[in-house]
Amino acid sequence: MERLWAPWRQAYVTSTSAGDSSCIFCHAFEPGRDELILVRGAVSFVILNLYPYNNGHLMVVPNRHVPTLASTTSLEQTELMRMTRHAEIALTEAYKPQGLNIGVNLGRSAGAGVLDHLHVHVVPRWNGDTNFMSVVGKVRVLAEDLGQTARKLRPIFERLASSNA
Ligand SMILES: [Zn+2]
Repeated sequence: MERLWAPWRQAYVTSTSAGDSSCIFCHAFEPGRDELILVRGAVSFVILNLYPYNNGHLMVVPNRHVPTLASTTSLEQTELMRMTRHAEIALTEAYKPQGLNIGVNLGRSAGAGVLDHLHVHVVPRWNGDTNFMSVVGKVRVLAEDLGQTARKLRPIFERLASSNA
């Protein structure tokens, strides 16, 4: 199990090395930072991981800068789960993965890179992708750029949101 969760840890350590005072999820609201965002809900949003473990690696994030599930409101809990469900549907439709990892890392010991802003990882998985990782170390070669991923997934999220699914 631990093997499966290790890869995105490294990505976040890298992405936050510029400074602990900045929060990449709060910054996602700034003008011009929308390219990675797939959909916005009332109290949460879905964003592509800038350093994906696999094509389609995304995160479901509450708008509020809250560190834990314990500090979320019932509305946030409901929407986070609904968005996570939409992520499962969208990734399955667009990528037909053989599996999905869906999970939350709370605290540095658990592998969280962004410590104070809760986020749910959703990662499509294929047989052998972990083996590939071990061969090439921490470098992964992805077949698709993030813009392409966003163009593939956005219409599916929009359809799901508008159909109230
Ligand atoms: Zn934040």
